[in-house]
Amino acid sequence: MKITLLGTGSPIPDPNRAGPSSLVSSDGSVLLIDAGRGVVTRLVGAGYFPPMLTGVLLTHLHSDHICDLNDIITSYWIMSAPDADTPLSIWGPPGTIKLVQHILEMLEADIHYRITHHDDLNAAPRLNVVEVAPGDVFTVGTLSVKVGETDHRPVHPSVAFRISDGVHDVVMAGDGVPCDSLDELLVGADAYVQTVLREDIVKMVPLARLQDILDYHSTVEQAAQTAQRAGIKHLILTHYVPAPPPGGEAEWAAVAKEHFSGNLVVGPDLTSIDLNA
Ligand SMILES: [Zn+2]
Ligand SMILES: [Zn+2]
Repeated sequence: MKITLLGTGSPIPDPNRAGPSSLVSSDGSVLLIDAGRGVVTRLVGAGYFPPMLTGVLLTHLHSDHICDLNDIITSYWIMSAPDADTPLSIWGPPGTIKLVQHILEMLEADIHYRITHHDDLNAAPRLNVVEVAPGDVFTVGTLSVKVGETDHRPVHPSVAFRISDGVHDVVMAGDGVPCDSLDELLVGADAYVQTVLREDIVKMVPLARLQDILDYHSTVEQAAQTAQRAGIKHLILTHYVPAPPPGGEAEWAAVAKEHFSGNLVVGPDLTSIDLNA
């Protein structure tokens, strides 16, 4: 199982970091988790064209996590072979079906143009959208996925996904603060991907709108403590707020290492870790 951080940024625009999205691949199955700014560019950077995706998982419907889902939908559609009949499958919390319906409405003119222009394109994007709830278990390709609840209130519902290939398990936690349900989902997992912020830095910025984010995101320390509590082997941090400058990740790693004794991953976009290595 390989985990790749496609975009390590956040809602704050950054010239070096795409928005939140990650990839989990194993045995030919490729799962995209969240679809932030620039996701298709980074997906190709990781070696995959959109039609190679086995499925898309959304942790919650905050704009930074879904703002380029339309690009995934369009690229999957127009890059698939003329005879391809595999719909793009998307799993997400309640509200995902409505979101995708609205994206298709937004794309209505484009879909019309392309069907009119291309003789071998006769139908709108084919999608299989499933809304999930904590406790759900489903299979995508060769991977099994378990849904857990996260605490990202007032964003509700928000979920985490535990993805297993039968050899390794990774928990893709999305945004949120530590909570019992996340702890339960992490028990026995090999790897844990958590979005984080640096509370010490954010507190120095005198903007009320930035201070607001402190109460619903894990700090680096909290993510490290959660990983340590669960006995996780590999802690992978992403969605850095505020993003460290290129090469500045070591300072973040040092903060986490005060609370976590396992293998720690903090890096630029397209950082990956192969759990089989
Ligand atoms: Zn969020
Ligand atoms: Zn976010």
